[in-house]
Amino acid sequence: MAVGVLALQGSFNEHIAALRRLGVMGVEVRKPEQLDGVASLIIPGGESTTMAKLAEYHNLFPALREFVKLGKPVWGTCAGLIFLANKAYGQKEGGQELVGGLDCTVHRNFFGSQLQSFETELVVPDLASKEGGPETFRGVFIRAPAVLEVGPGVEVLADYPVLANKLPDQYRGPEPDEQSSAATSKVIVAVRQKNLLGTAFHPELTADTRWHSYFLKMGSELDEGSSKAIIIPSTYPGF
Ligand code: GLN
Repeated sequence: MAVGVLALQGSFNEHIAALRRLGVMGVEVRKPEQLDGVASLIIPGGESTTMAKLAEYHNLFPALREFVKLGKPVWGTCAGLIFLANKAYGQKEGGQELVGGLDCTVHRNFFGSQLQSFETELVVPDLASKEGGPETFRGVFIRAPAVLEVGPGVEVLADYPVLANKLPDQYRGPEPDEQSSAATSKVIVAVRQKNLLGTAFHPELTADTRWHSYFLKMGSELDEGSSKAIIIPSTYPGF
């Protein structure tokens, strides 16, 4: 089955092109019923408030939440990561709607505005062990979010050093020197929680398809897991 790419706004074409380079068909998803025809879903980067308004207009939120709950693989890049987070930092009650499911708190514009966009080499040990090749990946950060906090079921795949005083007070260390302007800390920029993958950066804007391949493998591993779970041994009494 094809991989769905939420095509309301943002870099959905680039994701479809990256999938094509791997020989996989990506299909645009704009309506709730189109989710029935795809095995997994990518939520691209863009602008999460606009994307949320469009998702609301197309009545997509209930179907997206159901898709996540069913355990189907979903990958959010940048604004897509914000969409998947359970909580957006500093968001007031009744603020922008999120799909949720990923047990983390995300800071929507942690790295600043368009002018503070940057590229950097990230260290991602999981890419080297699962995809082969180097453990570095060129991260393209555009008005990028960062994950400030994750729940116990969330695996951190990559982080990035920042000055501690860039963090909101409650996320700085308890010691005075950990709060000084020279102290460094880290924010999380790639996470996985079972069927959910989130990256604060944009792999679809590079020629490197290892994250796409990682996501596709995640889907087949989950499939294997679920088919294993329903194998009933023939010797089981009563069957
Ligand atoms: N910070 C942006 C937002 O709030 C996301 C930026 C991106 O997807 N490149 O939506």
